[in-house]
Amino acid sequence: MPQIITQRQHLIFDADDTLWENNIYFEQAFDEFCNYLNHSSLTPQEIRDILDEIEIANAKIHGYGAVNFGRNLSQCYLRLAERAVEDHDLERVKAFALQILAQEIELMPGVAETLPFLAERHELTMCTKGNTEEQNRKIDNSGLRPLFAHCAVVKEKNRQTYLDLADVRGFDLAHTWMIGNSPKSDINPALEAGMRAVFVPHQRTWSLEREEIRDPGNRLLVVERFSDLARVFGTEPL
Ligand SMILES: [Mg+2]
Repeated sequence: MPQIITQRQHLIFDADDTLWENNIYFEQAFDEFCNYLNHSSLTPQEIRDILDEIEIANAKIHGYGAVNFGRNLSQCYLRLAERAVEDHDLERVKAFALQILAQEIELMPGVAETLPFLAERHELTMCTKGNTEEQNRKIDNSGLRPLFAHCAVVKEKNRQTYLDLADVRGFDLAHTWMIGNSPKSDINPALEAGMRAVFVPHQRTWSLEREEIRDPGNRLLVVERFSDLARVFGTEPL
């Protein structure tokens, strides 16, 4: 869908794994967990499937983020450990997750150059799901907050989340785009809300964020990398 953007658009950005690396740190914590668990028969994928079940159940109650991931890992450990579980085991397992909080923000390639370019031409909004405190700390540490007119941290991203955001911010859906790496949280619900969307795939997207994209026709773009957005949304400064 080559097109020329000739007016100011509302660009809503996902944050984790779109603006900065995130899931790789959770994968590292999971690898450390598997080593520590040292299970005699389950493969890492089989352990992952059990952890996914725990995560799906707990996300409804506790939400997302590193602290909650630590809780999920310790529950998974309790379920799978083949030896008597001591308190220090659970502390150790939680620590694999908590070290994610100490990670420096690593922007995705192209973000540092492309976002200021887009901010001169369009109104930028960030919409990220997770723990409010954790997400806000990442936004501040990223240094990107000044480029955004508004940053929203939400518990879940579904169709209603996007309709509410558009309503509160006064967005005209025909000129509003959701840009992100997650078919489940970014692309499908924004398309269902009547927005446009740009899918920026990330090789290491969390398994629970993957699903088929349901393209309603001509409202979806797929780009290879973040810097391609300059070509999609590049205009003279508006
Ligand atoms: Mg994401």
